[in-house]
Amino acid sequence: MLDLIIIGGGPAGLTAAVYALNKRLNVLLISEDLGGKTAYGLDVKGYEGHEVIRGGEMIEKFKRQLEYLNFAREIDRVNHVVLEGGNFAVFTQSSKKFDARAVILATGALPKRLNVPGEKQLIGKGLSYSAISHAQLFIEREPAIVGSNLRALHAAAEMANIAKQVHLVLPEKGEIDSAFGKKLRANPKVKVYEAPLKEVRGTDFVESIVVGDQTIKVDGLFIEVGLTPGSKCVADLNVTDVYGRIAVNHRCQTSHPGLFAAGDVTDVFIEQVLVAIGEGAKAALSAYEYLLNQG
Ligand SMILES: Cc1cc2nc3c(=O)[nH]c(=O)nc-3n(C[C@H](O)[C@H](O)[C@H](O)COP(=O)(O)OP(=O)(O)OC[C@H]3O[C@@H](n4cnc5c(N)ncnc54)[C@H](O)[C@@H]3O)c2cc1C
Repeated sequence: MLDLIIIGGGPAGLTAAVYALNKRLNVLLISEDLGGKTAYGLDVKGYEGHEVIRGGEMIEKFKRQLEYLNFAREIDRVNHVVLEGGNFAVFTQSSKKFDARAVILATGALPKRLNVPGEKQLIGKGLSYSAISHAQLFIEREPAIVGSNLRALHAAAEMANIAKQVHLVLPEKGEIDSAFGKKLRANPKVKVYEAPLKEVRGTDFVESIVVGDQTIKVDGLFIEVGLTPGSKCVADLNVTDVYGRIAVNHRCQTSHPGLFAAGDVTDVFIEQVLVAIGEGAKAALSAYEYLLNQG
């Protein structure tokens, strides 16, 4: 029986694992990879090798520590987490079972794709799924944002503060009739298109997009149609909100004693590496306190 299992090897999970090891817990990190989304970057035409992920270096160090301590990690996919007599049983894709007194879920969230022609080829080459991370690269430029939810509208508003012109592509009505959406429509820097994105074009970088029957020249594209949290493996434990995110309190506790969560998989504001690092540290210390109280 392990003290703690951490699922997910991104910034949140790696940080939690390093903290748990420092506390001398009998811990195992199970993840499909080590590093998670820290490898995601964005190159934009005219900027040389822009690496904007802050905290990446720290994560590299944590990753190397885990690579070295091979007893503390298992490269595998977790399919299910179930309760067994007050403890947790974790079942993996390669048919292994691990038992622990506490679990931290740090499986992140994946951006939803549109799967239109050109999208896959231009990821990272002017095309990103995280305006909050890369908006600053578009000062006096002309980016496009696709999405009708509040996340996309906020991205358009942020971009309008610095860009020359913002093209906001609405695949559906979404939140555009909200008070925030109305303000955005009235902004002269924001051009709204009520049609689906059909194609992304460009050779080395995004050069234009096809929306309905128009081709629009752009310097970059943000697809902000939502995130899919990696919470499927705990679906039976009833700890998610309406968006499928794990609901946690300020101690990273879920509604289930002994089950903690950290990073993008949770309902915590907001998806950034440094936030995930902090949440991972908090979850590990919170789990440690839980285990101490259990005796
Ligand atoms: C396109 C893009 C660009 C970004 N750029 C930046 C940036 O420049 N700066 C910044 O601060 N933030 C950026 N972010 C956000 C940042 O990457 C995330 O906030 C951060 O990586 C979240 O860390 P995490 O540990 O919660 O999840 P993740 O990094 O997503 O890690 C999740 C881990 O869980 C593993 N996993 C998932 N499901 C399972 C399972 N069932 N079983 C086992 N393992 C599993 C994965 O393999 C992965 O190792 C960007 C995000 C995107 C999408």
